[in-house]
Amino acid sequence: MKAKYIKLLSLVAAMILSSCGPATYLNSEKEVISVGIEGGSGSVELSCDGDIELIYAPTWANIGLDGSTLSYEVGPNETKELRRDYVVVKSDDLSLALEIRQATEVSYLVMPKTQVYINKNGVGGKLKVITDGFDVKVECPEGISYKYDGSVLAFSSNGHTGRAKSYSAKVTCGDFEQKITIVQKGDICTTCGGRGRITCSNCDGEGGWGYYYYRSCDKCNGKGSIRCRTCGGTGKI
Ligand SMILES: [Zn+2]
Ligand SMILES: [Zn+2]
Repeated sequence: MKAKYIKLLSLVAAMILSSCGPATYLNSEKEVISVGIEGGSGSVELSCDGDIELIYAPTWANIGLDGSTLSYEVGPNETKELRRDYVVVKSDDLSLALEIRQATEVSYLVMPKTQVYINKNGVGGKLKVITDGFDVKVECPEGISYKYDGSVLAFSSNGHTGRAKSYSAKVTCGDFEQKITIVQKGDICTTCGGRGRITCSNCDGEGGWGYYYYRSCDKCNGKGSIRCRTCGGTGKI
């Protein structure tokens, strides 16, 4: 009975010790808080095994800390300069600096790739956008939608049956624009165009050679076409 009691006591002591010890980690889900020229607000989730306190924030940003949630609110940037500073938080001996910045105007927009595919089920690809602007928009064709997460444009659609379609669209940010191509794939096989068969490359679709001494093509058995391997002859993918 006594041994059990001591065991329990030491367990409680260990729990108290571990919960009262200095914080061992202090992390943030984001390294940079980016705010547009027009201002904005949001929050960043911090993780820590201790109490977090706010140490420093720039005067142009309204920073709040509620438990492990850091919130920010920034008004429009009327200065002609890029605002760049840090929000510093600490927990015991650990400290963390989050960069906070606010642009004045967009000075570049670069897209390494300008063609994106959306498969027949509507699941689309992504395009990287390199810019110091925040308000990235796409003039999308009807039925195609996009999401912008700060550096990547992700496309999607409701899906498409029929032939693949290619659209041109425009990505804009500030005064900058970039033309892109969105290819919406359909369920018709692009190898055979939905026919299920392709022209025999051995006989060029003739099916054989000669007139008096006719020799039929071995590859297509004289048919002039062979079954499409991409779709297995169904014409659909
Ligand atoms: Zn042939
Ligand atoms: Zn095919």
